[in-house]
Amino acid sequence: MSQRMQQGQPMIIMGEDAQRVKDKDAQEYNIQAARAVSEAVRSTLGPKGMDKMLVDSMGDVTITNDGVTILQEMDIDNPTAEMIVEVAETQEDEAGDGTTTAVAIAGELLKNAEDLLEQDIHPTAIIKGFHLASQEARSAVNEVAESVEPSDSEVLQKVAETSMTGKSSELNKELLARLVVDTVEAVTVEADDGSYVVDLANVNIETQTGRSTSESELLEGAVIDKDPVQDDMPTAFDAADVLLLDEPIEIEETDVDTQVNVESPDQLQQFLDQEEKQLREKVQKIVDSGADVVFCQKGIDDMAQHYLAKEGILAVRRTKKSDLAFLRDVVGAGVVSDLDTVTAADLGTASIGRDDDDELFYVEGLDDESHGVTLLLRGSTDHVVDEIERGVQDALDVVSTTVSDGRVVSGGGAIEVEVARRLRSYAGSVGGREQLAVEAFADALELVPRVLAENAGLDSIDTLVEIREAHEDDETHAGLNVFTSKVENTFDAGVVEPAHAKEQALSSATEAANLVLKIDDIIAADELSTSGDGDEGGAPGGGGMGGMGGMGGMGGAM
Ligand code: ADP
Ligand code: MG
Repeated sequence: MSQRMQQGQPMIIMGEDAQRVKDKDAQEYNIQAARAVSEAVRSTLGPKGMDKMLVDSMGDVTITNDGVTILQEMDIDNPTAEMIVEVAETQEDEAGDGTTTAVAIAGELLKNAEDLLEQDIHPTAIIKGFHLASQEARSAVNEVAESVEPSDSEVLQKVAETSMTGKSSELNKELLARLVVDTVEAVTVEADDGSYVVDLANVNIETQTGRSTSESELLEGAVIDKDPVQDDMPTAFDAADVLLLDEPIEIEETDVDTQVNVESPDQLQQFLDQEEKQLREKVQKIVDSGADVVFCQKGIDDMAQHYLAKEGILAVRRTKKSDLAFLRDVVGAGVVSDLDTVTAADLGTASIGRDDDDELFYVEGLDDESHGVTLLLRGSTDHVVDEIERGVQDALDVVSTTVSDGRVVSGGGAIEVEVARRLRSYAGSVGGREQLAVEAFADALELVPRVLAENAGLDSIDTLVEIREAHEDDETHAGLNVFTSKVENTFDAGVVEPAHAKEQALSSATEAANLVLKIDDIIAADELSTSGDGDEGGAPGGGGMGGMGGMGGMGGAM
């Protein structure tokens, strides 16, 4: 057991396996770990990216092309690598897309930083240069971005399609993208200052297995995946008064301590009568309120079900809490938690429809205040539906960000090459060692078109050179369209992305790279695996990857 006293710092007691790595070794170790993560997802970038099959320790299999899903499933326990995973998570939260891009750029920034470190350039200069470059890059994105209005559904459709490309949702990309755009439009309102606010809380996604994805639809109101508690209840109403209830329609439990001693058949009968009376009273309160329909979050006693059916009331039990919250906005009702106080004022109004095949209720609000739409996504199997839901969820985020931000850029590497070009001319004005870091940053951005080309089986250098030349000729939107394998105006080709996601990817990648570069002292409680031989940057399972246990489970490209 070794002990150390650091200046003014508490004593650090480390175990026998403890190890300390400093300065260059520490940086090298961290860079390797970060690069390994970034390289693990790189092959999924773009529409021609590979899917990865992930097998977790329980043997569950996920097949996905989604960068953030891959990273979450990788079960990484190396702190540096975790920082990179956080980049992906921030990107996912902030932009809903661009996770692979952000992680890949972070890895490339570190790779280029390593070269600079080898030339004895101090980390502080690199960090400063990267910081300046990131700021300049973001303003370059803003300069080349095109503006977009909520009414530009054609452009928004392209944005949605681009975000879905390469995922399982791709097969029905056109239809799903249109649904996404319609959905966002349905919940967009113009604020007083003329900006647009998209409220995705008014969107409910409901999934159904069995039918084809092409039968997915956007519906006004809510879809509730439940059965009536009794078959003989009515299931369709043109205009129903709806009660949302958060209380069981059951007999109130007697106090645990009180024993009910039944000594005679009479007494038993009395007891049962008492219970029946309680249930009748509860049902009567519902009847008196004028409700035609009850969505109850809790249980409903058999006898109460019978009474409700006799009164011609539709009752649904164990409605999901989230569904009840959504229904509140749709039908314009409060959630009642005590039947003793219920009045007509607590009820909302809706038309109710029933699809017996799917066993779904369609609830459409009739109130002016009513808001809320449901995206009903269908697919043949759970796996298909899950992937579609993920893709649609991302596309919803992407389109809503685009609508509220109002700016788009062209993809296929076009934006990255243009920004790199502008950064190189900016670098001269920076001067000194930071200039080298700004140039290294520009080079790192061009990883995007290189990897897109590589993943599409094209020559990455030739492609990059061709895109660069087009940009020298002021073709700002020139990028690689992997569907035609040509360098062309990707905006016109429909490869369109939100500017905000690009800016976010740039800043989170820079932040992560700089965090890793700042660390020059690692004190680890367990032994570090420091092969540090830099073999192709520590590809999965390669050198420098202490503690990335889950990587071995990756079954490779599909
Ligand atoms: P991310 O997680 O970063 O969103 P993706 O796998 O979705 O990763 O790939 C996004 C990249 O693919 C973007 O750079 C985008 O411009 C590019 N892309 C999308 N469609 C095309 C296309 N048809 N041709 C070339 N690149 C494309
Ligand atoms: Mg994407």
